[in-house]
Amino acid sequence: MINQIISDDKQYYMNTFGDRIPLAFTHGDGITLYHENGDAYKDFFAGIAVSALGHSHPKLVEALRDQVGKVLHTSSLYYIENQASLAKALCEASCFDKAFFCNSGAEANEGAIKLARKYFYERNINRFEIITMEKSFHGRTITTATATGQEKYSRPYAPLTPGFCYVPINDIAALKNAVTDRTAAIMLELIQGESGVHPATAEYVQAVRDICDKHGILMIVDEVQTGIGRTGSLFAYQQYGVEPDILTLAKALGGGVPIGAVLANDCAADAFHPGDHGTTFGGNPLATRAGLTVLQTIAEEHLTENAKEVGNYFTDKLSALNSPLISEVRGMGLMIGVEFSSPVARDAWRALLDAHYLTGCVGDTVLRILPPLILTKQDVDEFITSFAEILSKIKED
Ligand SMILES: *Cc1c(COP(=O)(O)O)cnc(C)c1O
Repeated sequence: MINQIISDDKQYYMNTFGDRIPLAFTHGDGITLYHENGDAYKDFFAGIAVSALGHSHPKLVEALRDQVGKVLHTSSLYYIENQASLAKALCEASCFDKAFFCNSGAEANEGAIKLARKYFYERNINRFEIITMEKSFHGRTITTATATGQEKYSRPYAPLTPGFCYVPINDIAALKNAVTDRTAAIMLELIQGESGVHPATAEYVQAVRDICDKHGILMIVDEVQTGIGRTGSLFAYQQYGVEPDILTLAKALGGGVPIGAVLANDCAADAFHPGDHGTTFGGNPLATRAGLTVLQTIAEEHLTENAKEVGNYFTDKLSALNSPLISEVRGMGLMIGVEFSSPVARDAWRALLDAHYLTGCVGDTVLRILPPLILTKQDVDEFITSFAEILSKIKED
């Protein structure tokens, strides 16, 4: 069966993903995913930080079944109870006043960039430039690929959206230098995920806020990957003691149902007037029911606390391996990067896959671990046992 799936994919699906991992999961339960032949895999990647509640969480399954039987979609022509409730829940749990829902991280960032530009348009001030970070990742639309500080994502799609410039993260002097009287916003991830789990320092994030305040420009934080409990608080910004003006979410918010969100304080959000921005699917009854259920379940089951506790336990155990192959273990909560001192990340990733562990790697030197937030210490212990064995074998080679 897998061979048929692969041959259909090769023949009919655009070749954007190349040779994928030859697995096709049919169902899941908790942190386990089942390949079509019945083999069980432990999911330590959560579909790239999406499946926060693991797979087939009974509360999410029940809520979605109920919603599917009621109504899926009505459009933004009408009021939507779940949408209003999720907006309220996100604002009450954060420093923000308003929410807007869309369908993906890229779309959320696109909305945030539009909001920042509209904010100055509204005031008749000619500020439109957005400063972003080198090695950032903000999405795949033309504008968010331009915002992404990695040329490989945007180069083939020129001409790109004008008005973006890039600075190295954690370099306050470079940021100060990059601000001009055209700067509208500074946009960053608090932990750069796609480029290998690189955290912004607390000092830097404070400096971003101070520079924004000093020049009257907007601070946009992309929490598409760090948001919704992953780092040990509902939003990562809460651990930095700094309040952004605009924040974007997606990945884990729907627990696997596609949804993105832009959150903003009233001052920024007021720039959008009726007709300025919109969406057909965004925030529909199904997606927002998923978001509500994810937030409720995270609260009821203390999953942010779990992410913090099990995440710390995990990083401690990885460090305690004392492997000469590992040069650094970094991250926050259950967003973990293992930096190797030699280019063995792919070997480690492949050996973990052979041991039925799903993880990710960035380049040749970073292993990325993004498990569901329901991970237990026992899951970590089992992983560490396998990983230690794998590292000792890599050493022998
Ligand atoms: C994944 C990601 C995005 C893009 O999200 P999509 O849903 O794939 O469009 C944007 N920003 C960050 C930080 C991400 O990790």
